Amino acid sequence: MPELPEVETVRRGLEREIVSSQILAVKVLRPASVGYPEPKTFAKELIGKTFKSIRRRGKYLLIDLNDGSGMVAHLRMSGRFLVLKKREEEPPHTRIRMELSDGRRLIFDDMRVFGRVWFVPKDMDFEEVVPTLAELGPEPLEGVDPKMLKEKLSRKSQPIKSALLDQTIVAGIGNIYADESLHRAGISPLRPANDLKPKELEKLCNEIALVLNNAIASGGSSLRNYTDASGVNGNYQNEALVYGRKGQECRTCSKPIARAKLAGRSTHYCPKCQR
Ligand SMILES: [Zn+2]
Repeated sequence: MPELPEVETVRRGLEREIVSSQILAVKVLRPASVGYPEPKTFAKELIGKTFKSIRRRGKYLLIDLNDGSGMVAHLRMSGRFLVLKKREEEPPHTRIRMELSDGRRLIFDDMRVFGRVWFVPKDMDFEEVVPTLAELGPEPLEGVDPKMLKEKLSRKSQPIKSALLDQTIVAGIGNIYADESLHRAGISPLRPANDLKPKELEKLCNEIALVLNNAIASGGSSLRNYTDASGVNGNYQNEALVYGRKGQECRTCSKPIARAKLAGRSTHYCPKCQR
């Protein structure tokens, strides 16, 4: 599942590729991929509009159009955007196709069909169309405030790993970067969230920002079938310290990396370095 760095990489790619392009035609090939309104209206409303800017909130892409309307997209498991040149072949799971004024096509491709694209009419807020946007916790890229995090975790006795995946606590962190941040902060993913000391929370907040910024710098992760807007694979997976490394040597202490199941998600950590 794409996490904040992957979505940020897509945002930058789209910003580079489609800003100032006008939409000439829209075809919805899979109605379930459209979150709002019904697909016919979705397609009709978008025609003639120009992409103005691309923003990101957590794992959501927020797209501003020239007339004050907009779009929201969430890639979920396998969604991706591709910008194709004139005769370039479309991917097999094209769900939405937008023909652009310069002959290119913006494709929303999504094998598993969990991803969504919403249209936001100009008389509505993004949060009205996608209410979960209003519930998102702070953006972690600039560093989360440890005091705020302590406050948010004070009544959470669930494992800290599970708390980090809760998008209302911090927005954008998923399985990979939760494991990596906890490892770098030396904190066991199994610790109750409200048990962490102020010093540990401070370290964790710093590591979250570092891990995410590093991942963005290397173009996101390609652990899933993820590509950026121009179809380039990220390479963060080569840098992972614990994620996906069960049984391999910890890069710090050489002990084998352990894997546990937490709330149905696999969790990787070093039992020696993480307390
Ligand atoms: Zn270790």
